[in-house]
Amino acid sequence: MKSRTWLVIPAVAALLSAACQSAQTQPVQRPQVVAVPQEEVPQPTVSGYPAQGDTTPPMQAPAPEPGTGSKRLSYNSCNVEGPYVALTFDDGPHATLTPKLLDILKEKGVKATFFVLGQCVNANPEVLQRAAAEGHEIGNHSWDHKSFSKGGGAGVAAQVNQANAAIEAAIGKKPTIVRPPYGATNATITKRLNEEFGMKVIMWDVDPLDWKVRNAAHVKEEIVKRAKPGSIILSHDIHPTTVAAMAETIDALKEKGFQFVTVSELLAMDRPLTAAATPTSPPAVAPAPVTR
Ligand SMILES: [Zn+2]
Repeated sequence: MKSRTWLVIPAVAALLSAACQSAQTQPVQRPQVVAVPQEEVPQPTVSGYPAQGDTTPPMQAPAPEPGTGSKRLSYNSCNVEGPYVALTFDDGPHATLTPKLLDILKEKGVKATFFVLGQCVNANPEVLQRAAAEGHEIGNHSWDHKSFSKGGGAGVAAQVNQANAAIEAAIGKKPTIVRPPYGATNATITKRLNEEFGMKVIMWDVDPLDWKVRNAAHVKEEIVKRAKPGSIILSHDIHPTTVAAMAETIDALKEKGFQFVTVSELLAMDRPLTAAATPTSPPAVAPAPVTR
């Protein structure tokens, strides 16, 4: 297994490095194809990612943990008083699409949260600096999108620490939140991320499957249909269709009365659920056979 792992690393690294290529160094090769591999295991156009033998379905996003308040280690959504939601964007920063998204967020007066790959931060530090300077929250999404549930203890530490170091080097601040690649975690890993790394694990309860259905209208419809107060909304700023969907998505959510906060702001508003306040229907959980 070990030798196999080492064999695939260069392919993954090359691919992600291409995906993270900065606009300055690669003006021609836009990451139309190579920017998408992180989330889509079965993409036939993207060979070599994820690693061979790494194709078993990831774990589902875990069920929310009601009633534990600030002691929660992991969040799918929050129990908040008020119409607050958190937009989250994974797998960047992307050299051209993330700046486009930042323009939209700025115009709409919306703060979001970016779960970034350390490798992409190193490729596009100025994009991350802009996001941080404009008030968005930055979270850890691993170094190169390797599943935490497959890397062993040392693998998780390397993924988290390398990404944190890249983020801190770029913006002078370590993140306090982490989203495991593919949402793949377990009780042991989640506890360790909290206790050893001091990071809350952030999942989601709204998933428009934007990595799979590359259609802006669909992305918007799914988000607007599923968002509820306290929602953590998953999407990816490496897909043109997702970025194209965001202006109208934000407008539609605003029309429904939603207000936008960062993940940490949402967590700060989280209240323990009482029996009487327990929602009648559970938040949506990521479907089983897909990865993100
Ligand atoms: Zn991801």
